[in-house]
Amino acid sequence: MFTPAIVLLMGTANAWSIKTDDTGNELYWETSPIDVVVNPEGMSDVGADAVRDAVEGAAYDFYAADGSAIEFNVSYDSDGPQTVNYDDNVNAIFFTDRWTDEGRDPTLLALTYTWYMDGGQIVGFDMAVNLENHDWATQGEEGLNDLHNTLTHELGHAVGLGHSDDEAASMYSSTFAGELTKRGLSEDDIAGLLHLYEGMDFDTEPAQPFACSTGGAGLGAAAPLSVFGITLMGLMRRRRESDPQNAETAA
Ligand SMILES: [Zn+2]
Repeated sequence: MFTPAIVLLMGTANAWSIKTDDTGNELYWETSPIDVVVNPEGMSDVGADAVRDAVEGAAYDFYAADGSAIEFNVSYDSDGPQTVNYDDNVNAIFFTDRWTDEGRDPTLLALTYTWYMDGGQIVGFDMAVNLENHDWATQGEEGLNDLHNTLTHELGHAVGLGHSDDEAASMYSSTFAGELTKRGLSEDDIAGLLHLYEGMDFDTEPAQPFACSTGGAGLGAAAPLSVFGITLMGLMRRRRESDPQNAETAA
């Protein structure tokens, strides 16, 4: 029969996606809360207090997502990392005006790098926010990019979410200057989170204690951590149709 097949399709139309490694393993954390160090230096458009409000607002969205156990533990350090580096053992959020000097796409508002093991276990992330090519605000000022709006999207990448096809989702791949509606996680975003973290018991040891699967090494052992891969994903600034077009931006 034809009709039931259509109903089935409509009922499973999730738009969210999960990041995967080259062999298709979904990327995910086995530990929570995830420690994050924010360095507010350089964000002179906004100021350190407003940076803090935006970060905590975005982190709270994940804490408050019903049924998902993944959380962030945020601290602030004006001497914290300002470069992408796994080996510093810090999950860093930083603001940089060296965006294109360091080879990044100027249309991107921010970029999140995640490191993971063979099997998909994420073991670290860093997030860079683009101060060189974009202007920022936290109070919904017209024409400026809302920091909370972007941080929610990037923290989604940090926990393993990919881009959503739902234009209303925080994890949609692009946003407009001044947009605030993606500060909060949508139903679609939360459905992706639940796929990874629903009912996860983070009080137990990781199922795969790093690369060591014999000898009962467990968490306390100084097993060398060999990172399998790195992914990077970001949020693209998109022009409104009413924005003035000119030769340099026509594409
Ligand atoms: Zn993105």
